[in-house]
Formats: sequence, structure tokens, C-alpha cells
Amino acid sequence: MTSAVQLTQELIRFDTVNPPGNEAPCARHLGLILQSAGFHTRYFEMGNSRENLIASLGGDGGRLPICFTGHTDVVPLGASLWSVAPFGGEIADGKIYGRGSTDMKGGVAAFVSAAVKLAPRLAGTPGVVLVITAGEERGCEGAKFLVEQGVLPKAGAMVVAEPTANYVLAGHKGVLWLEAAAKGVTAHGSMPEKGVNAVCKAARAVLALEALDFSNEIHPVLGRPTLNVSWFRGGLNINSVPDEARFGVDVRLVPGIDRDRLLKRFGHATGGDVEFTLMDASDPVWTDPADPWIVETTKVVQSVTGVGSPIGGAAYFTDAAPLKPAMGNPPTVILGPGEPSMAHQTDEFCSIKRIEEAEAIYAEIIARWCKL
Ligand SMILES: [Zn+2]
Repeated sequence: MTSAVQLTQELIRFDTVNPPGNEAPCARHLGLILQSAGFHTRYFEMGNSRENLIASLGGDGGRLPICFTGHTDVVPLGASLWSVAPFGGEIADGKIYGRGSTDMKGGVAAFVSAAVKLAPRLAGTPGVVLVITAGEERGCEGAKFLVEQGVLPKAGAMVVAEPTANYVLAGHKGVLWLEAAAKGVTAHGSMPEKGVNAVCKAARAVLALEALDFSNEIHPVLGRPTLNVSWFRGGLNINSVPDEARFGVDVRLVPGIDRDRLLKRFGHATGGDVEFTLMDASDPVWTDPADPWIVETTKVVQSVTGVGSPIGGAAYFTDAAPLKPAMGNPPTVILGPGEPSMAHQTDEFCSIKRIEEAEAIYAEIIARWCKL
């Protein structure tokens, strides 16, 4: 068995830039390692060489397994030139370099290595289930696909190995993506009083949304919801009254906000100037930091890293949004070796020490869950 660090290098050498993804060879590589350790592996094909992997071992019927999840796709390299080979997995100064080292092949390698090492002792215990997805970087495609297929088992707890520098995070905000459309009546630009200007209607609506106050909806850890008008288009030419204008609204939600009530509030605030269409949504993910398993997990982390810290939330969203409700809503942490600040960056790297720590943390989490 190769080490978690070597496995990270091997995974980086699969080019899984999404689009197009091409995650299948990477998923098969992990699947073979897990299979030879005794794991039961199933692949779920999304077409175009894109595969999700679910691997499980153990399960005594009395208690649910613990789940670890991670994605194999990575984001494109960006316009800047890299000073290292982006798919080389080179090691220098205690760091592994490459696209996906931080987000999140280092995390996947760490939990696969931990699971493989403990595999001989998992029979007759609650066991471990690994959910390794494709297509996370473009809207959790793989995780949503697994939910639609109805193939996800129930889990008793979940670790999302996204980059947190081995700090325990108890969740993240949700998103609500809307498109707003204003309709008007076109007329010659010299006689605007004969038309209804859709750009002006949309502009009023933008300002009304910007003025909304979310200070009554602040979450103690995740903070306040945010609203960003992300694009705006309207009108056709210089000398007509525009009869259509559209804009995008990116809302980040905290737990406890009712989506339908929020949409009603937007409608009220904009006074019928625009109509909203829901483009995409994902619920916030949150587990009470007082949950006994979360408390135990923070103790495990502290015993390995020597660092204790208050529980925080992630700035990004994760596959936990679709997976957690589908797997029985288990307590969930986001906890992985990557450097959050290096995700999606040029010359992305992951600290070798953090990968080794993560493997030790994951092994201890499994050992305690399965009472090894
Ligand atoms: Zn990620």
C-alpha cells in the first residue's frame, strides 16, 4: 500500500479538469486500491468518462456506518502560467504541488489511505462508506446524480474532506440563484412617454434588493445572509425604449431562513417591477457544534495537531448540501488537509504534514466510530 502522500501524487497525475472532467480513470484507480483491501465498490457512470464511486466495508446492522466524501474533479488551470507542472505532483519544501493537491485530492488520498489501513479490522463493525464524486466543481453534479439514482446508503456521521487546513468546520451557507426579468413596452427613443422602460424598472428593482436588511437573520457562526446582483442586461439599441431587462441575483443563505418567505420578501421589495425565476438552490449545511460526535471529532483533531480552535463555517459550499439530507441527515464536519487559501490558485500546493495529520485524524475517527 502506498502512503497518503504518494497516493496524492498519483491522483494529481490524472488530469480531471472540469470541464470536461474525465474522472473515470481516477475513480477506477481509487476503486482498485479499495477493492484489493476488501472494500465493496460500485461505480455510477454519468457518461463521457465521468464516474462516481461508492466503496463500503463492514456494517453490523446495529449502527450506521461513518461516511467520508470527496470529489475527484479539479478546476481549470487559469490564464496565468504555472511555475510547476500542474499534473506532476512534484514535492519540494514539504509541499506537494499540482492542480487539485489542496482541492481536494490530498483529502481524498488521506481518507482512502486511512480506510485501507484499517480495512482488515472493519468486519463486524458499523463500517465505513466512502462517497467519491465527479463534477463537484460545477454545481455538485456527481453528488446530485447519486441522490437522483437513489443509491446512497444512510450514514451515522459524515466527514467532507474539503480544504480546511485540518480545522473542524460545522457547515456552510446555502445558495439561491435567481434570474429577474422586467418587461416594458418599446417605443421610439424620441417619444419615451409612449413606452414603458424595462431597464429603469429593473434598475429600481436592483436598488430595492440592495437595500434589504438581513441583520435580523444573523447566524452565530456563519454570519449574515448576503445578496449580490451579479449581472445585468437590457435594451437593444440607442434610440428605442427597452422592453426587456434581466439580472442575476446570488443569495447566500444561512440556516433558519425560509426560502419561500425570502422570495415573497423580494417580490414585495421590488413592487412587481420584475419577475423572479429560480435557477438553482442548495440548502445550508449545519450541525450544532454541541453534537457529541462533533465534540469528539474536535478532540481527535486536537490530539493529532495539538491545535484546538472554536468551530467555524466554510466560505464555500460542498457536496454535503445534496449528500447530507439524502444520507439521513447525519452530523457532518468539513475537515481536510488542503489550504483553503490555495484552492483554485496558480501553483496550488498542499502541505505534506497536513496530509499525514489528516490521515491520522481520519484513522482515529474511524477507530472510535467502529470501536476498533
Ligand atoms: Zn473542492
